[in-house]
Amino acid sequence: MKKEIGIVAYKCKKCGKLHYPFHDRCLACKHREFETVRPQGKAKLLTWTRIYNLPWGFDQRYLTIGVVEFENGVKAMGQIQADESYDLKIGQMLEPAWETVRVQYGENVYGLSLHV
Ligand SMILES: [Zn+2]
Repeated sequence: MKKEIGIVAYKCKKCGKLHYPFHDRCLACKHREFETVRPQGKAKLLTWTRIYNLPWGFDQRYLTIGVVEFENGVKAMGQIQADESYDLKIGQMLEPAWETVRVQYGENVYGLSLHV
């Protein structure tokens, strides 16, 4: 069974602006009331980078990190599952999943994983 994406964004009840992560007051209109919104649909790649100098504890050689926008407007950062030879393009659609992105001290760490 697929896990639900464990990200909750906050939509301003006054102006509709989406916030993730949470802000005390709306960045657009300063309102203080929000409703929670889950990311929906596929994820469009907005920008990405590859990190080679990983901290101790990682057993892979590099990570590919991207910022995506879901079909309902929620933006989030996640780990892209693409190797070095894959030609990532800004604007391409990725398949989001909530799954183990690394193992730390023997425990699975769940996070946003993006498949090409
Ligand atoms: Zn607002």
